[in-house]
Amino acid sequence: MSRIRSRDTAPEKAVRSLLHCLGYRFRIYRKDLPGKPDIVLAKYKTVIFVHGCFWHRHKGCQRCTTPSANQEYWLAKFEKNISKDKKNKTLLRRLGWKAITVWECEIKKPDKLTQRLVRLIGN
Ligand SMILES: [Zn+2]
Repeated sequence: MSRIRSRDTAPEKAVRSLLHCLGYRFRIYRKDLPGKPDIVLAKYKTVIFVHGCFWHRHKGCQRCTTPSANQEYWLAKFEKNISKDKKNKTLLRRLGWKAITVWECEIKKPDKLTQRLVRLIGN
């Protein structure tokens, strides 16, 4: 797999501590679910992916740039990431899970992100 995948990135930690403050209980890195979601809220049948804007192509985001060298390579790589994300979300939905994507740039506006998460997860 070509996607760069590291554990405990700063955005993931930020989302986790935000959820923690909100009183949600969750598990991380459940490998038995499609796409290995970063955060799993089993009680709400909800998973959260914390995505980097560059790698996962956050539409309209200023971090979603395309390197000018080797464009073909990059575009193919991005295409692969996008279709993989899409496929995982479809699989999760079929299994009865709701999948939420949190973009790395959203961490900069924690109030807004909190509102969105509460609305999507429910309480
Ligand atoms: Zn973004």
